[in-house]
Amino acid sequence: MTANILFAAKPDRWTIYEAPLRRALDAAGVTYDLRTGFAPEEVDYIVYAPNSDVQDFTPYTRLKAVLNLWAGVENITGNQTLTVPLARMVDHGLTQGMVEWVTGHALRHHLGMDADILGQDGTWRKHIPPLASERGVTVLGLGELGRACAETLASLGFDVTGWARSPKDIPGIRCLHGDSALADAMARAEILVLLLPDTPATENTLNARTLAQLPRGACIINPGRGPLIDDDALLAALDAGQVGHATLDVFRTEPLPADHPYWAHPNVTVTPHIASETRPETASQVIAENVRRGEAGEPFLHLVNRDLGY
Ligand code: NDP
Repeated sequence: MTANILFAAKPDRWTIYEAPLRRALDAAGVTYDLRTGFAPEEVDYIVYAPNSDVQDFTPYTRLKAVLNLWAGVENITGNQTLTVPLARMVDHGLTQGMVEWVTGHALRHHLGMDADILGQDGTWRKHIPPLASERGVTVLGLGELGRACAETLASLGFDVTGWARSPKDIPGIRCLHGDSALADAMARAEILVLLLPDTPATENTLNARTLAQLPRGACIINPGRGPLIDDDALLAALDAGQVGHATLDVFRTEPLPADHPYWAHPNVTVTPHIASETRPETASQVIAENVRRGEAGEPFLHLVNRDLGY
């Protein structure tokens, strides 16, 4: 049987994904027809970006699965017309990119690099940072990305605490879980990394109460999602010196509006949602493997729990 695969994403994505997807599907031994247009009732799989034109899945009567091109699924989990399995993107290129971005920004804060880069004024001013082992880093979220970042930071010697919904046992990481442990996780965070998904349960995880639990002057690095942070509370904490610096890659509104106070704040670094990108070559292999599994009647990889929203 031929698997009809609809690529439902913006045209610029098709340009960069078509060739790698065909290579990966060929390598997986799948018999397929891959296109950007089919009659809905002919479609077996949708390779999907939530900003595509497909928002109503009802006409896709023989659909077997939706294979999301993105790791975050907050824009699709609530779609009531979607009744088939939803798989999200877990891609080692995406993970490695996130590890590099988080580690780079953590080291910037740990070493106080801004003082050297921005403060060069002819004065011989020594400043010796603590060793990584004397620096507490907390990673909120110990999934595909959070765990990889936590492990890399621990391998550099940081005193790493991780926090998730369910219990974990990861060598070298102090693993905490559940709402009752969040205050402990915050208290250990001289550097705090947010790698939680955007769900009803995680909205405003950083708020006035939890920000007050951080050590004074802590740095925040958010490559997770904008709604994880109560922006007014963060701005107040920055102004009060409770938070020393915030490096923010994701926002409630993207692009971040030009008049947003984050742009002008001296202790905020804004990056334009570039922490990590899905890499077409490796991501295509993940999608092809799921199509192969679907055709072979095997369980799909990386399924989303729609009740939990991630
Ligand atoms: P995963 O689903 O693999 O991991 C999510 C983690 O968050 C899990 O450890 C989970 O706990 C934890 N979690 C979820 N809900 C709660 C809660 N209520 N309380 C405590 N912990 C919770 O996601 P990924 O690691 O793949 O990705 C994380 C996020 O990173 C994505 O959702 C996306 O928003 C963002 N992202 C950002 C990118 C960027 O460029 N800025 C690129 C890619 C992703 P448990 O393990 O117990 O289930």
